[in-house]
Amino acid sequence: MRWSERQRAMLGAMGITLWGPDRVEARDAPATTVPRPRDPGAAVACADTPARAEASARAAGGARAAFVAAPAPDAADIATLDWNALRARVASCRACRLCESRTQTVFGVGNPRAHCMIVGEAPGENEDLQGEPFVGSAGQLLDRMLLAIGLTRGEAEPAQQVFIANTLKCRPPRNRNPEPAELARCSAYLVRQIELVQPKLLLAMGRFAVQALLDSSEPIGRLRGRVHRWRDLPVVVTYHPAYLLRNPADKVRAWADLCLAATLLAR
Ligand code: SF4
Repeated sequence: MRWSERQRAMLGAMGITLWGPDRVEARDAPATTVPRPRDPGAAVACADTPARAEASARAAGGARAAFVAAPAPDAADIATLDWNALRARVASCRACRLCESRTQTVFGVGNPRAHCMIVGEAPGENEDLQGEPFVGSAGQLLDRMLLAIGLTRGEAEPAQQVFIANTLKCRPPRNRNPEPAELARCSAYLVRQIELVQPKLLLAMGRFAVQALLDSSEPIGRLRGRVHRWRDLPVVVTYHPAYLLRNPADKVRAWADLCLAATLLAR
């Protein structure tokens, strides 16, 4: 593959070194996101009834008050919502314990008619505070990666501006991993977002995004490099920018994934 001067500059900004005029080097590496501490109170998340919630709280040592979740979002009902109604529904959601510790929900950012929709994992501390996905150093890396293939989260036409959403709309405490029940309860919102955006391509970043879209627990290293499907939409799988910050050697693989995404978008 031949690189333009602009691409070379962007690759340099991403920290990717080109060996030779037309080639990037890739190595095998474990395809996992950065482990995060577990939440000792997670056992009481998403309890369906007050009795179950109290029992779970007791089992967790009684350190936290019982949380009674609102009913799980009704997928059939969510599927009828327009963009503004969906945003409002997410903002008021209390269907899992994460509503207790969030500063605000993180709905997404970008063009709701974008050709490329990026799906991440869950809000972190900065995202929770700012109400926007992928901010901080991981977000800056994502922005550079997008610029390298002519995309942006900033104002632009739908072909150039992405829409970015997370699988979870609320931050897990202390950035722990999302619980399966939390992912399940939040999934209807992501599905409706995809239905409304109607992108040409989904870019799944990180293993929880992959689980949500592909229902697969395979490592990213085994899933990346080929095209998957969510309903009839092509899905490209790649590493989460936070993982790439800790594992910079895999930036070359992420770049190859972005090139695959750009090729599909250009068709
Ligand atoms: S994470 Fe999702 S399901 Fe849980 S409270 Fe937030 S919006 Fe609702």
